[in-house]
Amino acid sequence: MARIHNLGFPRIGARRELKFALEGYWKGLSEERDLQAVAGQIRQTNRLIQSGLDLQPVGDFSLYDQVLDMSFTLGHLPERVASLEGSELDNYFRVARGRSAPDCGCGGVHAGEMTKWFDTNYHFIVPEVTRETRFTLNPNRLLAQLSEARADGINAKPVIIGPVTYLWLCKEKDDSKPLDLLESLLPLYSQLLEQLADAGAEWVQVDEPVLSTELEPAWKQALETAYHTLKANRPKLLLTNYFGGLRENLQQACNLPVAGLHIDAVRAPEEVARVADWLPAHKVLSLGVVDGRNIWKTDLNTVLDWLEPLAQRLSERLWIAPSCSLLHVPVDLDSEENLDHDLRQWLAFAQQKIDEVVLLGRAINEGRNAVAEALANNQKAIAARKQSNRVHNPAVREAIACADTALGQRQSPYPDRARAQSARLNLPDFPTTTIGSFPQTPNIRQARQAFRKQELSASAYEQRMKSEIEYAIREQEKLGLDVLVHGEAERNDMVEYFGEQLDGFAFTRFGWVQSYGSRCVKPPILFGDISRPKAMTVNWIRYAQSLTDKPMKGMLTGPVTILNWSFVRDDQPRSESCKQLALAIRQEVLDLEAAGVSIIQIDEAALREGLPLRRSEWQAYLDWAVECFRISANGVKDDTQIHTHMCYSEFNDIINAIARMDADVITIETSRSDMELLDVFDRFDYPNEIGPGVYDIHSPNIPSEEQVVSLMKEAAKRIPAERLWVNPDCGLKTRQWEEVVPALTHMVAAARKLRAA
Ligand code: GLN
Ligand code: ZN
Repeated sequence: MARIHNLGFPRIGARRELKFALEGYWKGLSEERDLQAVAGQIRQTNRLIQSGLDLQPVGDFSLYDQVLDMSFTLGHLPERVASLEGSELDNYFRVARGRSAPDCGCGGVHAGEMTKWFDTNYHFIVPEVTRETRFTLNPNRLLAQLSEARADGINAKPVIIGPVTYLWLCKEKDDSKPLDLLESLLPLYSQLLEQLADAGAEWVQVDEPVLSTELEPAWKQALETAYHTLKANRPKLLLTNYFGGLRENLQQACNLPVAGLHIDAVRAPEEVARVADWLPAHKVLSLGVVDGRNIWKTDLNTVLDWLEPLAQRLSERLWIAPSCSLLHVPVDLDSEENLDHDLRQWLAFAQQKIDEVVLLGRAINEGRNAVAEALANNQKAIAARKQSNRVHNPAVREAIACADTALGQRQSPYPDRARAQSARLNLPDFPTTTIGSFPQTPNIRQARQAFRKQELSASAYEQRMKSEIEYAIREQEKLGLDVLVHGEAERNDMVEYFGEQLDGFAFTRFGWVQSYGSRCVKPPILFGDISRPKAMTVNWIRYAQSLTDKPMKGMLTGPVTILNWSFVRDDQPRSESCKQLALAIRQEVLDLEAAGVSIIQIDEAALREGLPLRRSEWQAYLDWAVECFRISANGVKDDTQIHTHMCYSEFNDIINAIARMDADVITIETSRSDMELLDVFDRFDYPNEIGPGVYDIHSPNIPSEEQVVSLMKEAAKRIPAERLWVNPDCGLKTRQWEEVVPALTHMVAAARKLRAA
């Protein structure tokens, strides 16, 4: 008999109950016990949803972040909060979110740094290590979740982050090395495992997704040390890898002294046979066959075709599961009553994915006949998607077939373009601009909501947005900015706005996925060939340009960013979907140019987010991603200026790719690094223009004129002054006009001073 299990379930709740409970608690509107009650209800619902499984994950529930939970379990808190008084829960949120001085009666506490969880859009709180770092076991949270589940009669499998992955996620704050802590960490893991065994856990799931990355010898050695130590403990360990193949780590993963191994059979189906061959005969093999990273229905019959012979061979050693925790998909498809009927047939969210695992288990253990009807329905849905003309659009295919590298080629090299552009635009030195959005005021949001609810007519909505655009333009003129933007009042979100206007995209109502803490995103679903039925931004930009003599930037989101912030097709490579997006954006660029727009900005905020886990695969990704950007941008004439914007602060390892994008102007986030970020552009002799952000838009602080001047002088040490622009770090939509006006006043004054110098 094969066993079925799960690696983790979303904890935000089908209606984001946890988000609202957290935010209420943080605002002081509710007590800790109210928050814990909501959390308890969500866990109970999740147990119910997973009740068909042989083993359920516990400890996967978190009030904020599973890495922060592990840090607390290990008593591993930053010095700055360890000494604070107050409840454990408050300390937990202090590390997560920081606290201002009046709140904690101390000097204020800054939040832990956040970073991406492997290649997902989930962000965790980075554990900090120093020479002083010591661990103390604090297993209560995990033990409580375990006993709660067991009291419900559930065969519970605690989930923990493995010691090697935990250290790998740590960031050193001095000259110490995280790996040096392994020796002091392992005794705590041993104790924890023993306590879990005492509390009734037969199996413990130990997540080691570092196995999907290229590991230095010291880290591979750490895996040996860790598991040869932990094998002395009672619970059976399920060593769990996901997000990619094991590759060069395969042999080691098979041989580590644990009771079972979980592999990601969605991302690395080619490894299943090898692992099955390599794995010692006493070990369990858990296969992640249901995609935990995407929202498509699993083709169950096809999976069974290859799974059945394996089940024969492995018998009770075979476990079946989703590929990874279901944290990365929305909770329940059944909530999507308004979703297009065809599309709904093709999808599975977390709850439906559990059903799929249950079905696969029954088909394996009782034979396909036992679930014949469900399998037939699944087959019908899979076939419908394959054949649907909603998915396949011959015209798009044809356009893609004709797209060659010439499409990505500008007419002339940058120096010639720069001359043509300067003749046309006639901008001063140190030209000033902003990144696109101006404050999304309550007024704007109300209008959009009323429009959505059909309380406001399309023409009334358009009028409201036009008056917001006019307001933003008048403000910018008063400020004396050189290149204006329309302010993006009409856009809810930089990806959704375009997705809604492109064919091949769909939107859910409740398809929320946790991004960090209480923050969720609702990624659009790219389901079919992408085409642009009509211009998406031209009317707005044309209107904006008509109000002013200053140059108006056309504002678009780039193909790579749209791709990386969406759920995408699994029936063709990502690069293919991206190319379709590139062609659609290219049409928009050309329409803007034809409408007389002289500067077009194509944001690629999420270019980095698509980087594969293994460095050896970066180049291939960057090649097609950059090519797609170039296709979208480079159809324009020499005297049309292309801008791009990227708001992350790490260019060292991708500077080649950035240069190959060949945007005439790139604006980047730099203010927090004191312009040191420009060093790499300097070393690389980056040839085009750069707007290094001069102030952090995430902070309400207003920069002074002197600060801006001194930052720009720092910048000019690295980049020739005639190629520098002056602008904020990112869009201003989360700020208020009262903050924006003085900040930009100082910025413009600084630019004038620089010109005069
Ligand atoms: N143009 C967008 C804005 O200003 C860019 C946002 C981003 O880079 N995340 O809002
Ligand atoms: Zn940005």
